[in-house]
Amino acid sequence: MNDSPVWHPFTQHGLGEPIPLVTHAKGAALFTQDGRRIVDAISSWWVTTHGHRHPRIMAAIAEQAGKLDQIIFAGWTHEPAETLAQGLTAIMPPALSRVFYSDSGSTSVEVALKMALGFWAHRGGSRHRILVLEHSYHGDTIGAMSVGARGVFNQAYAPLLFDVGTLPFPAAGREQATLDALEAACRAAPAALIVEPLILGAGGMLIYPARVLAEMRAICARHDVLFIADEVMTGWGRTGTLLACEQAGIVPDILCLSKGLTGGSVPLAVTMATEAIYEAHWSTDRARMFFHSSSYTANPIACAAANANLAIWGDEPVRERIASLAARQQARLAVLAGHRAVRNARALGTITALEIAADTGDYLSDLGPRLLALFRGKDLLLRPLGNTVYVMPPYCIEDEDLDMIYAAIAEACDAAADA
Ligand SMILES: *Cc1c(COP(=O)(O)O)cnc(C)c1O
Repeated sequence: MNDSPVWHPFTQHGLGEPIPLVTHAKGAALFTQDGRRIVDAISSWWVTTHGHRHPRIMAAIAEQAGKLDQIIFAGWTHEPAETLAQGLTAIMPPALSRVFYSDSGSTSVEVALKMALGFWAHRGGSRHRILVLEHSYHGDTIGAMSVGARGVFNQAYAPLLFDVGTLPFPAAGREQATLDALEAACRAAPAALIVEPLILGAGGMLIYPARVLAEMRAICARHDVLFIADEVMTGWGRTGTLLACEQAGIVPDILCLSKGLTGGSVPLAVTMATEAIYEAHWSTDRARMFFHSSSYTANPIACAAANANLAIWGDEPVRERIASLAARQQARLAVLAGHRAVRNARALGTITALEIAADTGDYLSDLGPRLLALFRGKDLLLRPLGNTVYVMPPYCIEDEDLDMIYAAIAEACDAAADA
């Protein structure tokens, strides 16, 4: 037990694991109350893109706080939201002409699902089934959980989750099975397919080829099935390009963005949609409006932060930083890839991942907690997914910090090989 009334997410308080108190941050570094400097190797859970406290984002937040803090967004508007919508439609694929605001990745997915069903309902159809990829993760609210993988983390809520059609993950050599399953499922006229493009994050950093993504998109188009790209993790350069979808040369009908939208500074999300989806809701009939809102929809301060993020993308060498980080990450991964305890070393853009294998099953069963403790002891924020260790740092990380991260992973591999 501890004295704090705080109930932390994805934390088993009964284990009594230490919960560091972070006082400030800069770039790729976090500083704790007990005087430690921690390297943020996972971008504070995949959100921080340029680095903590980017000066232009902080200045935009301060400036907006001096003008307008919050305003109802149903039937009202403000300059930061208008500017951001213009900016997003300019930088994102032109077919995605409409911008709907919410405040987290999960809500952006809920909105996407409601848009898809609204589209079919208003067109007079009765399509409501959603297709998903095995091992996917789309958030923790009931709808987002419903379209994500089922497991111990949502077992208690299973009775509330709606039924979906699950396609096998396109693992290497088995890609055709995924495409065949999609083709078959599309014949029953589902409403939409939702995918994490190129890489499944929480499912274990599972990478699949752009060619498969392009094929999935083509099959959906042929059958008039809406294609939802959840780029909440992959967006804003994570996979090497602004959107992962770019690498497959595809444009979704609906796009979900959140984590890096404000550079990872404050909560905000958007769901972007094609004109056809917007038009299906457009009418003089109030019963056809899009029935979704949350109190903080398009919060002005969050929109100002996102506008600063867009400006940074526009006039700083962000793409060069991403290419540099990708190369620096992959060079270090290549050194580890031949290690006896390493399986399936892989990289995509700024992300690297590998599995740690141990000769003894006993060691593997509690590998996760051991790894967490080892990394914590080395002042690293790394949070393995089971025995999958991945590195996803802010784009500004320096070589010395990357070296520290990979030295710690190498040490964990040595320990596993000796077990
Ligand atoms: C993190 C994540 C979400 C959920 O975002 P939250 O902001 O945590 O609600 C949804 N989809 C993907 C692919 C994610 O990685």
